Amino acid sequence: MEAVQAIRGMNDILPEQVGWWQGIESAAREVLENFGYREIRTPVAEKLELFSRGIGQSTDIVEKEMYAFEDRNGDWLALRPEATASIVRSYVQHGLHAESGCRKLYQIGPMFRHERPQKGRYRQFHQIDAEVFGLDGPMIDAEMMHMLSLLVERMGISGVGLHINTLGCPTCRQGYREVLKSFLAERAEGFCEDCLRRRDTNPLRVFDCKVKSCAELLESAPQLIDYICDDCRAHFGAVRQFLDKLGTRYAVNPRIVRGLDYYMRTTFEVITDRLGSQNAIGGGGRYDGLVRDLGGPAVPAVGFAMGMERLVLLLEQEKEKPSRYPRCFIASLGEQARVSGFLLSQQFRARGLETEMDYNGRSLKSQMRRADKSGARYVLILGEEELARREIQLRDMVTKTQRIVPLENIFETLLAVDSEK
Ligand code: AMP
Repeated sequence: MEAVQAIRGMNDILPEQVGWWQGIESAAREVLENFGYREIRTPVAEKLELFSRGIGQSTDIVEKEMYAFEDRNGDWLALRPEATASIVRSYVQHGLHAESGCRKLYQIGPMFRHERPQKGRYRQFHQIDAEVFGLDGPMIDAEMMHMLSLLVERMGISGVGLHINTLGCPTCRQGYREVLKSFLAERAEGFCEDCLRRRDTNPLRVFDCKVKSCAELLESAPQLIDYICDDCRAHFGAVRQFLDKLGTRYAVNPRIVRGLDYYMRTTFEVITDRLGSQNAIGGGGRYDGLVRDLGGPAVPAVGFAMGMERLVLLLEQEKEKPSRYPRCFIASLGEQARVSGFLLSQQFRARGLETEMDYNGRSLKSQMRRADKSGARYVLILGEEELARREIQLRDMVTKTQRIVPLENIFETLLAVDSEK
């Protein structure tokens, strides 16, 4: 019978790879919690309307990439393509704004977009997402980017750059959109079809276009930063000053417009040149209007998301695969010894020692082969004779030495031997 395969673009993370993921997750939790973020876990499916209202109708995500479906009750649902809209929904629904002036939240989990799968781009992918509600000043924008740089460093990833930009506010951006539209109209024949469509729906998105000729034409385009209002300019200037004070390196990049409608003022991306065209490993920005647009109070907010698959790809290029070994392997000879070994392994595990054993009663030789392959530092060998004498053989797999020790207090003996190393 033919075996069923996973869905295209949705990958298994196998035990051999999971060490990368656990390392990334624990670094993220540690750094985020140190900065005062608390974890939130929202459902993977939401009402479709949340994303069409929250992300914007004319974005690629909502137009082309959403896993939207009608459920058995006839309700339109979608698998979440990103985390911000869901977190805002939860924040408003549970009145989290009422509790304190500033709220820092994070979420780690799978997202779903129906994109064309390739290296670094999948249909189910995972993000680390962080959001701050209730602060509108530039200090938190700078702190968030500083934290992002620290996070990447803590994960052991080098050679990435922080690119920052400002999108102005809806008022000053409106003026720029018109200027940009005229620029695009004047050179219409040079742009790809997608860009021409974006000219009418979401002109800033042309800066996201990957077509080389479009990018070249855009080099002479008017820049948003020259059209923003005084308040937005002061905000951006202060963000940069704080970044300088924090010693966080960055480049101002007018092409960082981000794909989603809700961003305003500060936007940023963490970019690498080692993953081909999938060069963004994380990005975010300020979205002061979204909480209100989703039915909540007028609370300013800023956030970012990092793609975990791309972090893993970078780590694989740089570091040796993290592996996990049991500390101890229990081998046994004879039925009675096997049962004693079984009970002993449960005690060791309950006391916090990673322990593996042989369940099958195979030959000692094959058990030793398995112990060696498992990477265990110590092997305890329990035979019927040793058992009768209340003794056990303790083998150190690194020094290749073996000795007989009393079975009584074997756990303490093992810990004592281990602590001498
Ligand atoms: P975005 O919200 O689109 O800026 O995504 C934030 C981060 O998530 C990106 O910088 C990527 O690292 C990651 N990401 C977005 N889409 C995908 C995808 N389809 N596959 C893998 N990673 C993705």
